[in-house]
Amino acid sequence: MSYLDKTLEEISSALKNGEVTSEDLVKESIDRAKKYQEKYNSFVTITEDKALSQVKELDKISDNPLKGIPYAIKDNFSTKGILSTASSNILKDYVPFFNATVVDKLNNCGSIMIGKSVLDELAMGGTGTTGHTGTVKNPWDEKRLIGGSSAGSAAAVASGIVPFSIGSDTGDSIRKPACYGGVVGYKPTYGRISRFGLFAFASSLDHVGCFTRSVSDVAYILDALKGRDEKDMTSLPDDNISYSKNLTKDVKGKKLFYIKDIVDRENYKDSMDEELDEILKNFDGIIKNCEDLGFVVEAVDFNKELLKAIFPAYITISCAEATSNNSNLTGIIFGPRAQGKSIDEVMFNSRTQGFSELIKRRFVLGSYILQKENQERLFLNAGRVRRLIVEKMTELFKKYDGMILPASGSVAPTFKSETIDKLSDRYLLLENHMAIGNFGGFPSITIPCGLVNNMPIGLNITSGIKKDLELLNIAYAIEDTMNYKGQIAGGVKSE
Ligand code: GLN
Repeated sequence: MSYLDKTLEEISSALKNGEVTSEDLVKESIDRAKKYQEKYNSFVTITEDKALSQVKELDKISDNPLKGIPYAIKDNFSTKGILSTASSNILKDYVPFFNATVVDKLNNCGSIMIGKSVLDELAMGGTGTTGHTGTVKNPWDEKRLIGGSSAGSAAAVASGIVPFSIGSDTGDSIRKPACYGGVVGYKPTYGRISRFGLFAFASSLDHVGCFTRSVSDVAYILDALKGRDEKDMTSLPDDNISYSKNLTKDVKGKKLFYIKDIVDRENYKDSMDEELDEILKNFDGIIKNCEDLGFVVEAVDFNKELLKAIFPAYITISCAEATSNNSNLTGIIFGPRAQGKSIDEVMFNSRTQGFSELIKRRFVLGSYILQKENQERLFLNAGRVRRLIVEKMTELFKKYDGMILPASGSVAPTFKSETIDKLSDRYLLLENHMAIGNFGGFPSITIPCGLVNNMPIGLNITSGIKKDLELLNIAYAIEDTMNYKGQIAGGVKSE
């Protein structure tokens, strides 16, 4: 077994003992990245030269658990002197002159970036199919997507290229691909990790987070990345908790809930299939396992109309914010400049040529929502829905330590599968509840919880604001009841 396939703790101690060198580890990671690039397309750029020269500087860095360990980062994070495209045609030549704070922090730890990973264009979308350099494939089955928008970051961990990667999550963009890729995906409390240098999508919903192969690995990354950043006014002061040192599996008496309507078979009578049936059975098994561990688990009622309004509210708020945030992509300051007789025509043509259909649709929606005469009916109402949901959740988190739910009602779809009806209960209830975590800034994690049709499925766990440690401890205990921890897809392990 390669050291790349082990946990961060194991890799770090092997590096310290001299069982393996960082140079070997990074070279192997880059070899895998290149080898799998054609198959899965995880990367926009593989930063080989930079990575190898960074390895040579490691003597200057003091010991810490992430030192010398290779990682990948989504291409919507600014990296100084390195192409940062957000997988969009309009930024295809953009090279920032500064680093995102997370990149600086990982540099200071001596972690080695080996590549910038593919996303859905500008982080909008959930399929990993809309990036300007092509589709990302699921290492468990190349006929399937891995989901997005942090598609390449998920695939890079799932295929064993890197032991961890960085992503962003505005609606579920870390936690959904983590589910489809059989890896752990976590986003912290809003503001826990600085977003400086992350290309803004919807600022009130955007979070920075990570993919790993275990819950304890998340704790090491959170320790390294959290804290106040003067460059991000929404960042929280450091909580001075060592997450890695305070993980415990002692969950006796802790209380979990799930929302009855989201896992109620009655709601899916018309669309029930073998896959969903297995996923719901798996969830029943998890409830049982949780009770065996000492958790109290209860089903709670939640206004179904509000649940069904999550997706429209999410789309309304995120498209409005995205339209405003991306209004600088005009071809004047950023992006290839198209021809035109006036400045308006230049911007019009640059944006028409620069964006894909999906992005244009979202900007049309966003502009409509933000028009003066529509703001009250659309934008402000979506905000009210958001507030009602967050208030209800906040109330529940006073009584409960966490919420558990299936991360998706299906395994990763095939590229050919029909698009799922976005007005069906199945879509509205089962595929969109993770945006609750973004609405309220609640910490939320997806962990692998089984296989259905030889494809991974995930359990999502969400806790109250600033309860990241409680969340990780719940996940740490539940993870222990699963028997495929750290599994890697794609056969890397067997080679
Ligand atoms: N799939 C969602 C969307 O299409 C979430 C994207 C995200 O979290 N970045 O907007």
